[in-house]
Amino acid sequence: MSKYIFVTGGVVSSVGKGIAVASIGTILKSRGLSVSVQKLDPYLNVDPGTMSPYQHGEVFVTQDGAETDLDLGNYERFIDVNLTQDSNVTSGQIYSSVISKERRGDFLGGTIQVVPHVTNEIKSRFKKLAEKSKADVILIEVGGTVGDIEGLPFLEAIRQMRKDAGRDNVLYIHVTLLPYLKSSQELKTKPTQHSVNELRKIGIQPDVIICRSDYPIPDSLRDKISLFCDVEKEAVIPLPTVSTVYEVPLVLEEKKLGQLIIDRLALDVKQTDLKEWRSLITRLKEPHEPVNIALVGKYVELEDAYYSVRESLKHAAIQHNRDLNIIWVQSENLKKPEEVDSLLKTAQGIIVPGGFGIRGIEGMVQAARYARVNKIPYLGLCLGMQVMVIEFARYAFNSDNPNSTEFDPATEYPVIDLMSDQRAIAGMGHTMRLGNYPCKLVKGTHAGGAYGEELIQERHRHRYEFNNNFRQSLQGKGLVLSGLSPDGNLVEICEVVDHPWMVACQFHPEFGSRPNQPHPLFRDFIGAAKDILREGAQPELPLTN
Ligand code: GLN
Repeated sequence: MSKYIFVTGGVVSSVGKGIAVASIGTILKSRGLSVSVQKLDPYLNVDPGTMSPYQHGEVFVTQDGAETDLDLGNYERFIDVNLTQDSNVTSGQIYSSVISKERRGDFLGGTIQVVPHVTNEIKSRFKKLAEKSKADVILIEVGGTVGDIEGLPFLEAIRQMRKDAGRDNVLYIHVTLLPYLKSSQELKTKPTQHSVNELRKIGIQPDVIICRSDYPIPDSLRDKISLFCDVEKEAVIPLPTVSTVYEVPLVLEEKKLGQLIIDRLALDVKQTDLKEWRSLITRLKEPHEPVNIALVGKYVELEDAYYSVRESLKHAAIQHNRDLNIIWVQSENLKKPEEVDSLLKTAQGIIVPGGFGIRGIEGMVQAARYARVNKIPYLGLCLGMQVMVIEFARYAFNSDNPNSTEFDPATEYPVIDLMSDQRAIAGMGHTMRLGNYPCKLVKGTHAGGAYGEELIQERHRHRYEFNNNFRQSLQGKGLVLSGLSPDGNLVEICEVVDHPWMVACQFHPEFGSRPNQPHPLFRDFIGAAKDILREGAQPELPLTN
């Protein structure tokens, strides 16, 4: 039977609760336990797939095609597990399921209420994950902060779990912030006391409090929190801000959180083995020569919009013993050739990640042109592949007209077009080509060499695709189709000949990278970029458009 750890947040959001949960997963897995994770999101959207990246950051896609919260990406990277749609539960999903059951008549004339109907539905999701994953420990993060109105049904459901699963099988961890007051030069515990009080009002007494802080936490404050919040001192875990999130498992381990969880839940474990993780952190923290990568996108004001891309670049840089320096470039600012040159002139590699809609597209095309003409390594992800194909077609057909029908429905050269099975779809929620699909690689290409195998599976999230009517003409000009769906119908990867490394894929490799195992395309992209010298690089051809 699985044991449950529920993690709530107090005081403010964005203190790193997701990283704390992922890190707890790392330290439990390092003891030989199997771990699965679930994120509860109190908003009413069914999933974040329809939300703007500015609202929500990246949409993380699981192998089975669920569009989920970006915390799932951290869980996968830290715990090295592949999660499924069962790992992200939203209020939208819960209510829509309860209401459709009511419409079907499943409740036999009963009055449908938050308690017990909504809370039962929530608990059924915990149990479903436990049954399906058969994990020793199920970690469940409640999104938002204690005190939020919309989070109450989730808190009530996790409270009931102590009785449902048995007292010895459930642990509550509360993650709070100790704010620092500059004037009095001290950290304050009162907000933590208040948020623990909020939890207690609901009937939850935390077993562990993780205290986030930007400064070292004196022992006396642990005593104080222990006294006021009724938690043993050793269960008040200080978590000061560290230079890399990947260090958090080591901090928690050092504070003996792993042992505490094992003891409280009476888990049967092996000796902890964090050797590999420790050596990763050592390499990450050693100073190295930088590698400058320009990330050209339209949501760059919010780094979270490219969370997995940034992490995948980091993983690849660690492997090559480089310090990653991302130059965040707002694609709308790439208009005139001087602008393109001034913003990209120090870039040793250019990456154009995914995105939707026309804003900023022309700037991304300019970035792809700059990479092609100046022979700067380029990695295109989903939209970044479509942009690379548009740019290549403009060069090949000597015309400014090639485009995607997403941006110019009447273009004379629709080199990227809506997929045929997308044409009849009207709704926006969960209607893209989503999740894992196979791709066959062509030997002798950059992509084939990177993976070193013939058949791969990668995660997708798109509506548009390479238009096969242009295959021949573009291949004739030097576009290499290096990955195709096994039936040969869909172009999944393409690259440019006579270029050090210009590769783009229709899928999202960023969702599959791990700190210790960088994704092959990211690894080879950084490998190509690290040796590029950029002093005084100038575009050889005048830039049009
Ligand atoms: N907008 C493009 C499409 O739908 C690209 C999507 C993406 O980058 N995820 O095909």
